[in-house]
Amino acid sequence: MKLIDGKLISEQIKKEIATEVAQLIDNAPRGPHLAAIIVGSDPASMTYVAAKERACKSVGITSSVYNLAEQTTEKELMQLIDFLNEDSEVDGFIVQLPLPTHLDEQKVINAIKPEKDVDGFHPINLGKMVLGIDTMVSATPNGILELLSRYKIETAGKHCVVIGRSNIVGTPVSILLSRKGYPGNATVTLCHSQTPKLADYTLAADILIVAIGKPEFVDESMVKPGAVIIDVGIHRIDDSAKSSGYRLVGDVDFNSVSKKASYISPVPGGVGPMTIAALLMNTLKAYKKTQIN
Ligand code: NAD
Repeated sequence: MKLIDGKLISEQIKKEIATEVAQLIDNAPRGPHLAAIIVGSDPASMTYVAAKERACKSVGITSSVYNLAEQTTEKELMQLIDFLNEDSEVDGFIVQLPLPTHLDEQKVINAIKPEKDVDGFHPINLGKMVLGIDTMVSATPNGILELLSRYKIETAGKHCVVIGRSNIVGTPVSILLSRKGYPGNATVTLCHSQTPKLADYTLAADILIVAIGKPEFVDESMVKPGAVIIDVGIHRIDDSAKSSGYRLVGDVDFNSVSKKASYISPVPGGVGPMTIAALLMNTLKAYKKTQIN
């Protein structure tokens, strides 16, 4: 079994980005800038945004964070989005999800200018992705593709099974892997909560991508020997042996599945760091477009 080391690959990508940023800003009036909006104080969201800020700093991308109160109205949030849409010093921005329930997430995403939507969630960016037109591909699916390609994992003609049909992971990654090119040209099955006999599908998978949101759900009995396993899930579970009182696990039971897999991404240190690296890649892409225009 080989470990798919997302931490290592994300560090390589960040080095590549830092080198490119340093070269680009040599002849430019300003460097790339990523902004983040966070509404409320959900601890997981705060952690993600802080990690994104740190990652930006490490590669020379300017970052700014707008912390809005939990009770922020739709109008106030839209005003800030309009401001960032028009701010020529900001190349891209994200609105950290989930939003408080009184705010309509799709309406908020629709308000972001597609060329600044570095999360790749805007319908125009998703539509372009489906059509294979160069665009902002959402960070987690892009990070997964990057892992497959940097480990030179063959995808053409393989049966790829994706568990989970979310708009941010399962659905886009299933489309990307079925498209022409590399990574791609796979035969993809997308499983979800209404799929009966899930193991019948997972046992037939050469590549199994798990984004089900249930801790350690996939065990060895569901995996074909030699399969490639990409674990997208991330969960905190109580662990009194740890000083923090918890440990992180994925959607896959790593201990049992790693004995059968040819490649497996761990949690933590697999897909998670790649999501942030992919966000930086999108920010750099958005910045380079502004330099061309
Ligand atoms: P989600 O949590 O919104 O949805 C879960 C999906 O699983 C749904 O599409 C549902 O149909 C499917 N599902 C539920 N029960 C099922 C069953 N019994 N059989 C088959 N399918 C079933 O999905 P998400 O937002 O993609 O998140 C999935 C996991 O990935 C979560 O743990 C989340 O925290 C994690 N995540 C991690 C990253 C990262 O950067 N590492 C990014 C996004 C999400």
